[in-house]
Amino acid sequence: MDDVLYDKTYTCLMCAHEFKTKKVRSNRIRVLSHDSDLCAHYKGAIPYYYESNVCPACGYAFTDSFAPLKMDNEEKQRLYADYKRRYLPHGVPNLCGERDEEDALLSFKLALGAGYGKNEQPRILAGLCMRLAWLHRMANRTQEELGFLEAANRCFHVAFETQRDRSSDAHFLHMLGDTCLRLGRVEEARQWFSRLFSPAYADYAHISLAREAWASRKEE
Ligand SMILES: [Zn+2]
Repeated sequence: MDDVLYDKTYTCLMCAHEFKTKKVRSNRIRVLSHDSDLCAHYKGAIPYYYESNVCPACGYAFTDSFAPLKMDNEEKQRLYADYKRRYLPHGVPNLCGERDEEDALLSFKLALGAGYGKNEQPRILAGLCMRLAWLHRMANRTQEELGFLEAANRCFHVAFETQRDRSSDAHFLHMLGDTCLRLGRVEEARQWFSRLFSPAYADYAHISLAREAWASRKEE
């Protein structure tokens, strides 16, 4: 595993502690396939395992997409006290080394908690929920997967309604349609997909995945 992973240095968004955490080298990533909701299946190391950075000093978690914490120290302390009480009842974990599935799940749950606490953008919260759904899918835990798909669907809904910029629209429509389909809400999925399959989004990169997902569901 040594040459597959490398250390990347981060400064904690919460406590400013500088730390190193593992990432998968991009030239060692092997994608076998993609699911219709863009979940990648990998041979060997799973990059998702290392997407959430968890500070070993204070336990605060964040991804590369998180915005900095723009607040004064007092506000920060209040935010951290709440985070610690909710998500770190067993103390601060060290997730900076090689991670297994359990570590990865914990790192994403911490990032999701941190993200909710700081009012991170809905599309980023949705992405974290999708990662958690995918890790459960890979382990065939369907109930857990559906729970996180439901949460992701709600976040994508808010994202689509509130922060529309044309470049993300097609992605949100795809994710809304696909999550509804997987949750068994076929009529709602049909409505999202029919918007996605309009000429406006013809150049959306993943449209073939969405079309296949819809077509195979129709056959069923
Ligand atoms: Zn920290």
